[in-house]
Amino acid sequence: MRNALGLMLASIGAAVVIAAVWFWTSSPRADLAVAATVSAPPAERLAATASAKPAPTFEDVEVTATSPARPPLPPQPKTACANPDALGVSRVVEIDTTGGPGFGFEHFKQLDFLTDKEVVLTFDDGPWPVNTPLVLKALADECTKAVFFPIGKHATYHPAILRQVAAAGHTVGAHTWSHANLNGKNFSEQQAKDEIEKGFSAVKLALGAAPSPFFRFPQLQHRPEAMAYLGSRNVAVFSCDLDSFDFRAKDATQIINTVMTKVDKQGKGIVLMHDFQKHTAEALPALLRRLKAGGYKVVQMKAKAPLQTLAEYDDALVKEIKLPVASTRPVGSVVQTVSQ
Ligand SMILES: [Zn+2]
Repeated sequence: MRNALGLMLASIGAAVVIAAVWFWTSSPRADLAVAATVSAPPAERLAATASAKPAPTFEDVEVTATSPARPPLPPQPKTACANPDALGVSRVVEIDTTGGPGFGFEHFKQLDFLTDKEVVLTFDDGPWPVNTPLVLKALADECTKAVFFPIGKHATYHPAILRQVAAAGHTVGAHTWSHANLNGKNFSEQQAKDEIEKGFSAVKLALGAAPSPFFRFPQLQHRPEAMAYLGSRNVAVFSCDLDSFDFRAKDATQIINTVMTKVDKQGKGIVLMHDFQKHTAEALPALLRRLKAGGYKVVQMKAKAPLQTLAEYDDALVKEIKLPVASTRPVGSVVQTVSQ
């Protein structure tokens, strides 16, 4: 009787072990799936991993984005890619911004990390109504990612649009507070520092999360002292390889032709565009299709760590934008400065 009971218990024990092993091996490994998603997922794999761990909805991100103390917004897209022929993201590179590395062969030749047919999409001067959301839609339709360099003032005007950029999983750096030429005559070193720091603080205020330590000088005017300062702040500086000159294009077709001609000639590169520009928003769906048809692949650049903004600029900005704003926000002057 005792032997029979022992055998029975042993059988039950074995069944439990088998069941446990089956459950462990067949259950979704949400942690592994997310790690794979972060490290360069093709569009198709996003769909597969989405069931293991649902991506945060935009509404979730909106709520968390209101607190500056929260960590950076998660990189997962709102929904899985529904386009099986999407341009997608071929790989994600993480940038260690220590010492302020420079990117973009127009000015910085040291870091040649793109291989043949690889492009990085970058957009300056937003966030702006209509145009930035259209750019976001075009990127989402192709399940691809870009780097955005918003103007600080624009971020304070349209914080909800900038939060949409971050919520969609794009990288968000900064592009000064007011789009001033930091290399201009009568522009002091202190003013240059203020433009840089206030720009980053404005992006942080809009996002409710720290921006990436990625910076682009307005008009690609690299003031030497400001370069040294950015290096001391461990902020990467972005020039470009291919300038779309979209701000002076007469229509969308001209932008597409300029970018495709340059990229076909150079074979790869960081592409400079403006989500602020109407023609760019119009051009993007067809341009992304042309890149896909041409065999180009999109690389997304992310920062290894977010930027620690300076408290004095964060505090000053909060006080400043609480003032009556009607007379202190001349939209016309901001629009005029966008003339690269
Ligand atoms: Zn600009």
